[in-house]
Amino acid sequence: MSTNAPACPQCTLDETHVEGTNYVCDTCGYEWPADIADVASADDVVRDANGAVLADGDTVVVVKDLKVKGSSTTLKVGTKIKNIRLRGGDHAVEAGSYMLKAEFLRKA
Ligand SMILES: [Zn+2]
Repeated sequence: MSTNAPACPQCTLDETHVEGTNYVCDTCGYEWPADIADVASADDVVRDANGAVLADGDTVVVVKDLKVKGSSTTLKVGTKIKNIRLRGGDHAVEAGSYMLKAEFLRKA
């Protein structure tokens, strides 16, 4: 992905870089939302443990043992889950019958 961020709207200098879904000015520290084509709107982006963007239908691997809330099931590290669905909120990923946090998953 291109890191050619536009000039800072605050101080007009062009020492800027992309950080997550924002542009950040190196000179004055001003941050503003990136609108480049391959950065989806911040609300929709769900990132895995490595910072890769997850999408509906992806296959993910569990990166640590996860106790499934409300059951005695533990998802073991390395468990592969196909066809995830992204949801908003704290538990952002629907994986089969589980709701899991994206930070505990890695795109397969
Ligand atoms: Zn600036």
